[in-house]
Amino acid sequence: MSTVFSGIQPTGEPHIGNLFGAMFNYVKLGEQYGKNAIYCIVDLHAPTNPLAYDKSTLARLTYEMALANMAVGLDPEKVIFFVQSHVREHSELSWLFTVQTPVGELERMTQYKDKAGKLESVPAGLLMYPVLMAADILLYKADTVPVGEDQLQHIELTREIARRFNHTFGETFPEPRAVLTQEALRVPGVDGNGKMGKSKGPGSTIGILEDFGSIWQKLRVAPTDPARVRRTDPGNPDICLIFDYHKLFSDLPTIQMVDVECRRAGIGCIDCKKALLTGIERTLTPIQARAAELQQRPQQVYDALAHGADQARAIAQPVMEEVREKMGF
Ligand code: ADP
Repeated sequence: MSTVFSGIQPTGEPHIGNLFGAMFNYVKLGEQYGKNAIYCIVDLHAPTNPLAYDKSTLARLTYEMALANMAVGLDPEKVIFFVQSHVREHSELSWLFTVQTPVGELERMTQYKDKAGKLESVPAGLLMYPVLMAADILLYKADTVPVGEDQLQHIELTREIARRFNHTFGETFPEPRAVLTQEALRVPGVDGNGKMGKSKGPGSTIGILEDFGSIWQKLRVAPTDPARVRRTDPGNPDICLIFDYHKLFSDLPTIQMVDVECRRAGIGCIDCKKALLTGIERTLTPIQARAAELQQRPQQVYDALAHGADQARAIAQPVMEEVREKMGF
């Protein structure tokens, strides 16, 4: 049976891009794959980006990311769910891949170029980020990786790293494939500034656990079709991020109504945004209720993660032994 692996960084509040691009898929694949579905909060990735890392909040954000995933429906009894730094083998395999990976391949990564461009001093770890990600996946010999479109290039590099290792040291790793959620390849940020991302700050994100008053404040000022200046101007939903969100949150009649009425100025942007808020509330209310319940019993979250790390280690250790032996250690 194939093995699923995916990771999520604890670098900020989990947002609706994570929800539709990754977290819903974790739950769905978890139901199919059981203990062959391995999900990890990748805290060792956090310090690669100094703009998104803060020592004083890392532990809290790690806990909140775990809680949010459990609130969305990820069941740690059914799948393997743990924190990356609790399983030391991730770092070791990452180093053994680092020594084999050409720097040129890493410098071509678009996420690296984007993030490095915003820094005065670029940590080597930012360049190595996709090597650590390859180690995360291949440590479990996973062949199926549910991610958003932004990670496709990194998965391609993981395949290259697996191929190179197999070629040099003998058949060891599968070449994993990405599984995309078609409807949420790249959820846009609510500030209209490209992809929604944790590291871009709360101005970009709609949090899964954010209160609806705060979500409304962001929606109210969110950009729409810039050509629609007056209420009587027709708009173009195809270029409007609010319409993108409707496609994720609203029922079909609402999506169709917005599509038609926006184009003939039958509905204004504020009413369109109010209809969207209804859909957001419908989706997020049960998740937020489960999160509030879990907040009452934080030890349950910590225990689940500790148990998950034991299960992950039991798979990772023999793989590391195999790698060490094949590499001559
Ligand atoms: P972020 O970019 O918010 O820091 P991560 O790097 O932790 O998120 O990614 C966690 C998962 O969420 C990955 O599978 C990633 O592809 C997915 N993801 C992140 N942002 C988006 C988005 N805006 N649209 C769709 N999927 C996304």
